[in-house]
Amino acid sequence: MKITAFAGGVGGAKLAHGLAQHLSPEELTIIVNTGDDFEHLGLTICPDLDTVCYTLAGLANPETGWGRVNETWNTISNIEKLGGPNWFRLGDQDFATHLERTRRLKEGKKLSEITREFCNAWGIQHAILPMSDSAVRTIVDTDEGELPFQEYFVHRHCEPRVKGFRFDGVNSAEPVIGALEAIESSDAVIFCPSNPWVSIDPILSIPQMRQVLENKKIVAVSPIIGGKTVKGPAAKMYSELGIEPSAFAVAEHYRNVLTGFVLDTTDANLEMNVQNLTIKTLLTDTLMNNLTDRARLANDVLNFVRSN
Ligand code: GDP
Repeated sequence: MKITAFAGGVGGAKLAHGLAQHLSPEELTIIVNTGDDFEHLGLTICPDLDTVCYTLAGLANPETGWGRVNETWNTISNIEKLGGPNWFRLGDQDFATHLERTRRLKEGKKLSEITREFCNAWGIQHAILPMSDSAVRTIVDTDEGELPFQEYFVHRHCEPRVKGFRFDGVNSAEPVIGALEAIESSDAVIFCPSNPWVSIDPILSIPQMRQVLENKKIVAVSPIIGGKTVKGPAAKMYSELGIEPSAFAVAEHYRNVLTGFVLDTTDANLEMNVQNLTIKTLLTDTLMNNLTDRARLANDVLNFVRSN
C-alpha cells in the first residue's frame, strides 16, 4: 500500500516514524511543513523538517521532541555571553545542520536536494520532502499585531491572543518536485496528528496541493485528545478563535477534504458527530508515549485505511 503523510514537527514526526516501521521506502513519502522555517543568526532553520529527520534517524531528543539527543549547548551559551540572541535554543550538533544547510543553499542548491543529501548522511531511507522549495512563512495575526511564527511560538511563548494566520509566499509556491506524483500514486494521504492551523494548513494552502487531493482517500489523526493538546498551542488557538477545542473541531476544520478521521478512545462521545459530517471514524489510543505506541497507532491507521 502506498501512503503520503503530511507532517509538522513533534506530533507529525512521531506518527511518521510509526508509519516508517510498517511501510517500505517505496511505500511511504512524508511531506513536511516549512511554514515554521525562519532565518536566525544568519542561518536558515527548518524546525519541522529537522524534527522529522532527526526522529526517523533515531537522533531526536526524546524529552523535548525537538533538537538532538545527547546535545551540548556551548555555542548558544557563548553567543549569549557576547550579548547575542538566545531565545531560540540551538544545540551544538543542531547548529551543524543549520550551518551546512545554509552553506549549501548559498551555493544554489534547493532545500529538497539538501534534505535528501542530509537524509542519506543520516541513514534515512524513506523520502522526506519539504512541502515546497520556495519560502513560505507563517505569520500569526494576534491582538498585538502580526508576528512571524517563531517570534510568536518561541520568543513570546504563544502568549499573544491569536486572531488568524496567513502564509506569506504560499500563492506563488509550487509543491516540491515529487510531491504531486507521490500523492497521485498513493492509496491514501494521512494527516499526522499535527497542529491543523500552523502545520497542516500551510501544506494544504499551496495552490496545486488542493487539486491533487480531490477524490483521494484522506485520513487525519486528531492532535487533540480530551479537548487538550498533548503539546503546543493548537487547543489555545481554537479557543482564541472562538471554537471549542476538541477532536470534533479538528474533523470539522478538515471537513472538506477528509474521508476518514482517527480519534482517541477518550473522545468516544464525539464519534457520532464526526460521522454526521460523512467522515468515517476509527476510535483508538492515539497517545504516543514510546516507540511501541507509534508503531501500534500507525498499524491501526493503516488497517483503517485498508478497510475503508
Ligand atoms: P510542531 O510543529 O512541533 O508543533 O508539531 P506538530 O504540529 O506536528 O505537532 C503538534 C501537535 O501534535 C499538538 O497539537 C499535539 O497535541 C500533537 N501531539 C503530540 N504528541 C501527540 C501524540 O502522542 N498523540 C496525538 N494524538 N497527538 C500528539
